[in-house]
Amino acid sequence: MYRTRTCGELRLSDLDETVILAGWVQKNRKMGGMTFIDIRDRYGITQLVFNQEINATLCEQAGKIGREWVVQVTGVVQERYNKNGHIPTGEIEIIVSELKILNMSEVPPFTIEDETDGGDDIRMKYRYLDLRRNVVRSNLELRHKMAFETRRFLDDRGFLEVETPVLIGSTPEGARDFIVPSRMNPGEFYALPQSPQLFKQLLMVSGFDRYFQIAKCFRDEDLRADRQPEFTQIDCEMSFVEQEDVLQLFESLTKHLFKTIKGLDIPDFPRMTYAEAMKRYGSDKPDTRFGIELVEIKDLTLGKGFEVFDSAEYVGAICAGSCASYTRKQLDELTDFVKRPQIGAKGLVYVRCDMDGSFKSSVDKFYSSEDLKCWAKRCYAKHGDLLLILCGETERTQKQLCELRLEMGNRLELRNKNKYNCLWVTDFPLLEKDEALNRFFAKHHPFTSPKPEDIALLDTDPGAVRADAYDMVINGVEIGGGSIRIHDSKLQQKMFQVLGFTEEKAQLQFGFLMNAFRYGAPPHGGLAFGLDRFVSLFAGLDSIRDCIAFPKNNSGRDVMIDAPSAIEQEQLDELNLQISHA
Ligand code: ASP
Repeated sequence: MYRTRTCGELRLSDLDETVILAGWVQKNRKMGGMTFIDIRDRYGITQLVFNQEINATLCEQAGKIGREWVVQVTGVVQERYNKNGHIPTGEIEIIVSELKILNMSEVPPFTIEDETDGGDDIRMKYRYLDLRRNVVRSNLELRHKMAFETRRFLDDRGFLEVETPVLIGSTPEGARDFIVPSRMNPGEFYALPQSPQLFKQLLMVSGFDRYFQIAKCFRDEDLRADRQPEFTQIDCEMSFVEQEDVLQLFESLTKHLFKTIKGLDIPDFPRMTYAEAMKRYGSDKPDTRFGIELVEIKDLTLGKGFEVFDSAEYVGAICAGSCASYTRKQLDELTDFVKRPQIGAKGLVYVRCDMDGSFKSSVDKFYSSEDLKCWAKRCYAKHGDLLLILCGETERTQKQLCELRLEMGNRLELRNKNKYNCLWVTDFPLLEKDEALNRFFAKHHPFTSPKPEDIALLDTDPGAVRADAYDMVINGVEIGGGSIRIHDSKLQQKMFQVLGFTEEKAQLQFGFLMNAFRYGAPPHGGLAFGLDRFVSLFAGLDSIRDCIAFPKNNSGRDVMIDAPSAIEQEQLDELNLQISHA
């Protein structure tokens, strides 16, 4: 037997017991005639003691053991003289009587400690060592628990987990596909799924009724902190449901996860339409942990000779509480912030609502104190508050104000990681117009159902059609999203038409779905959660990378296995591929 107990479980109640432990050497230190070794496994750390006076040979052998060696020891549990309150096993130690070295280790390239000396790159290259660290391992334990509780919850409610294929056909809608050449079909390619969307809908046609899958999905997009080329979705679909049924069920799944994993009771989720979210927060995924909402003041600014506001479609303000005392430097920082290319505002107007009831602004030339007072009143500003104002095209400016709002939320420390504000955003627009290409794209995907009362608008004003689509948002992060689907082949055809598909192209790409819909497709709908984002939210992480065992870096590389990589000429030949080295 390699071990009788783990390195994390022994306590004072186990005194005098003879145990066998196995694990990695965290630390080795000599103090007078004693050698102390901390031995670690995934359950914890236990202190081993070797006493020169009791067994000199063993003590000498122990002294030579280096960090990360794998050892097995037999010994007796004894109460520690110097207790360590920081670890659960800190009251005991093991007086070792037998020591076996199971494997030696080279000196690791960084220390395997919570606070390591290894930078990001080196830890990614040696990810298998990084994963030995508590902080990283606990993220994966959390991920396991969340996936497990999700399966338990959905299984209890009659959902079946069905695997769908990973080698499928390319659909150029949506994000970019990862492509896999087919050897047996020269000149033809598979694509990796961006989501199991079409398959789960086909499963509904097959009568599966309640489906889920914890599924790997692939999107060849530029990477950010919350994106990886391969990521995991909790993907779900249900038949004979309306939007309300889907929202209810997945709201309870989310509450279940908060309860079982974080011990938190989350109240019923508020609902907010897309239009309201944009108006109040400038975002379809508002962080509702704090106020500082957007207030439109265009009508109050008109006709005072300030051309910039007069010519703008939208003038909006946010009110930062108790920030009237911001210095010139702080205001300049905020101006630089909104002017960054990622945000793209031309400038920032401010109004200080001073404690003595007077107002000072960067547009005093055009607006009287009385004018500024009206703005302040509309924004519910108090003495001592600061108004920050942006103007321009409506949606763009709202999004810029959203960024500024989040920045102020950070500066004022209003975005508490231990507070969770969940909500549903509903009634998304069905379509989004690409002005440059002068065509509509599906905002969610082409299978999303328009609201029945808006179907007639498809012919007259497609941009105004709202969808039965919804997102679950927590703390400003889109955790999940889905929709009620079109189940009528005629309506689906119409949708493809609005999206500018010719009949042939629609047949070629989605013919199988439209055919399936001819054989009795039930009304259905569903959603998918981003598991990686969900876990990082629960773990309070800034990047989803830290909850993925073997993630890619920002250029999409796995630096540990060095992928992607070149392949042999024979492999290329077999696949009928030629690389042009232009
Ligand atoms: N397949 C969708 C997505 O990946 C989710 C859904 O509509 O169920 O965003």
